[in-house]
Amino acid sequence: MFVDITFPISSFKTFVYKIPIELKSKIQIGIRVKVHFRNSEADGFVIKIKETTKYKGEVKPVLKIVDEKPLFSKSLWKLIVWMSNYYLSPIGQVIKLVLPSGLNTKYSPPKIWFIRKTSNKDYQNLKVKSPKQYLARKKIDECEGSVSVKTLSNFMSNPLKVCQELQKKGFIHLFQKNVLPNTEDLFFPSIQKKIVFNKDQKKAINKINSSILNKKYNSYLLHGVTGSGKTEIYIGTVRYCLEQNLNAIILLPEISLTPQISGRFRSVFGDKVALWHSKLSRTQRNYTWQRIFSGSIKVVIGARSAIFSPISSLGLIVVDEEQESSFYQDSPSPCYHARDVAIMRAKIDNATIVLSSATPSLESYYNYLKGKFQYISLPKRYGSAKYPKVHVVDMISEGEDSGKAGMVFSGLLQDKIEQRLKNNEQIIILHNRRGYSPIIKCLDCGNILMCPRCRVFLTYHNQGEKVTCHFCGFYEVKKKDQCSECGGDKILFSGTGTQRVEEILTEMFPNASVKRLDLDTGKKGEGITKILSEFSDGAVDILIGTQMIAKGLDFPNATLVGIVNADIGLHLPDFRSGEKIFQLIYQASGRAGRENKLGEVVLQTYMPDNPVIKYASELDIKNFYESILSERKELNYPPYSWLAKIEFSGNNYNGVEKKTKEFFSSISGFYEGLEILGPTPCYLEKLKNNYRFQIVFKSDKTIDFNSALLHRFIINNYKNLQTGVNSSAYRAKIFFDPLSLI
Ligand code: ADP
Ligand code: ZN
Repeated sequence: MFVDITFPISSFKTFVYKIPIELKSKIQIGIRVKVHFRNSEADGFVIKIKETTKYKGEVKPVLKIVDEKPLFSKSLWKLIVWMSNYYLSPIGQVIKLVLPSGLNTKYSPPKIWFIRKTSNKDYQNLKVKSPKQYLARKKIDECEGSVSVKTLSNFMSNPLKVCQELQKKGFIHLFQKNVLPNTEDLFFPSIQKKIVFNKDQKKAINKINSSILNKKYNSYLLHGVTGSGKTEIYIGTVRYCLEQNLNAIILLPEISLTPQISGRFRSVFGDKVALWHSKLSRTQRNYTWQRIFSGSIKVVIGARSAIFSPISSLGLIVVDEEQESSFYQDSPSPCYHARDVAIMRAKIDNATIVLSSATPSLESYYNYLKGKFQYISLPKRYGSAKYPKVHVVDMISEGEDSGKAGMVFSGLLQDKIEQRLKNNEQIIILHNRRGYSPIIKCLDCGNILMCPRCRVFLTYHNQGEKVTCHFCGFYEVKKKDQCSECGGDKILFSGTGTQRVEEILTEMFPNASVKRLDLDTGKKGEGITKILSEFSDGAVDILIGTQMIAKGLDFPNATLVGIVNADIGLHLPDFRSGEKIFQLIYQASGRAGRENKLGEVVLQTYMPDNPVIKYASELDIKNFYESILSERKELNYPPYSWLAKIEFSGNNYNGVEKKTKEFFSSISGFYEGLEILGPTPCYLEKLKNNYRFQIVFKSDKTIDFNSALLHRFIINNYKNLQTGVNSSAYRAKIFFDPLSLI
């Protein structure tokens, strides 16, 4: 018997191995095995078992089986195969994505030594003969209960040996305890809440629950305004799911949302809930993965990779804020959309899926209009909470009137902040650009500092006085005081990032407590939880942040949201930029006034007449969606078409351009409804020393089977690519359903 084995490499090739007789009974599809591969031993996965092989070369044997059973259930394996086909990615690479990096399936929490005193037996006579033993015994007296041996290492070099001696003499008792990785700091403390569902919520829960009970695939679009109690609906339906002995996955778009929401879940379901995201430490990850795999976890809450949790008997998947682009992974390969993978996982597992949002993606909205998703609406905020009042400030006339062009805070926003501080209410300030100053310019020659590896501006960060690139991470730890082009010394740090906003606010309101949450302050899961829980406890008056704080969070005492510059990103030449800005403003506004206190939003803009800003400031979803859908239809963009993109990159501009054009002219197999755009340089033409070109494929959705046709078309043409382009100098990467074309 033989097996085909795949490795986590970027090749579709599989490799054939023999099964030794003693392993025959244990070999299964999906099991991990150790084999000789490219001059060393490597772990691979069995993807096919067969009686014969046509391979003429030497066939090596499987050396051993790594895990007793496959790491994937049958349904998760099906999902892996589907992803490999749909996203055109080698199975080995999909497996690499699905398994957490550095997974140790044999992980067990480390045991450490503790001591407890056995009696009050007098130990004074140890003082002279064995001073170390005396000291150790004395320390135990100073503490209550048991003490870890490790704590004694401040006083002696080999405390375990000393304690062993003490044990022999009957002074103490030594024992071992498992130390579980600390995951508590990732959750908000549990809060018990009395929940009384209103009529709309009951209706929503009943619909979802009856689908869970049926154990059949069903998809819902839960469209509920901000503060309508969507989170409570997740909890209500998960409770029902567990009562049916089924399990659930909740996908959240942003790590910053996990502490609060998982804290709420913890308060109801206790330690049946686990949190899963990329900021877990390796030990936390191994420990959590094992608890999910062994079945002791019933609910997994997390960011996009949580969709691959090895959870069995899945009854419900919720995708919260399903429109968020963070559900799309574009690097490393394979590129995939976690929302779409979630839909497929629900189909395979006969589970119910709820896509939830106050601002659904246009795709999901369209799917509801077409009858693919069932629609559940929560049109009102829960209880007596009212919608916030939005004030639009035209920053151009504000600058003219005050004579201070380029100001960061308008008079109105300043006044409102002051009022809130007086009333002991809290303020959220959204500014979707991190760092201190995004433009570093020489006033002598006009040169703007660019990243040496990417064709983008460098950002100045005042913490550590760093000049850094947000795309490749390049940085120099020194503040620029000389122009690299002309040697001039008049360097202007212009533009505004969150650090500058923080500095201005701290100067303006010296008595207020101000905290900032962005990628720089929220590098670790625990850090994010700390900042947010301080805001939640009222220890922080003003929370500044990027889009990390715009959605999903629930702080009843936050009654003012200030949007420093609503226009950021509006000019990006992408078909989705308007939709994204609308959603961001709408979501951020939704943070204000979530209980009985009235909320207000101050939205600062340089383009008050721009339709996106107008619709967003009126919180007018229906008309915005109608206008944008008709625009998309006219241009045949999603949701009216299927989209794919091939991106070519390499370190030689002319070379990449040539290869892209060669591929373009080799394309064959056109069909009705297919449109090809390009080849063109990407909007960000050079990133990480690579020049980038792209070709975009649009396949009209109104014609049947055009998704399948587009796939077949790309697969057929991709063959040319594999032989013609992929080399160390040039790479081609395929994106299905890309969220952006820039
Ligand atoms: P959304 O996720 O839709 O923005 P949340 O679920 O955060 O809204 O609900 C907003 C606020 O209203 C929260 O403080 C939540 O606890 C409260 N709330 C929602 N539904 C109920 C309910 N049925 N009973 C009590 N409080 C509720
Ligand atoms: Zn760079």
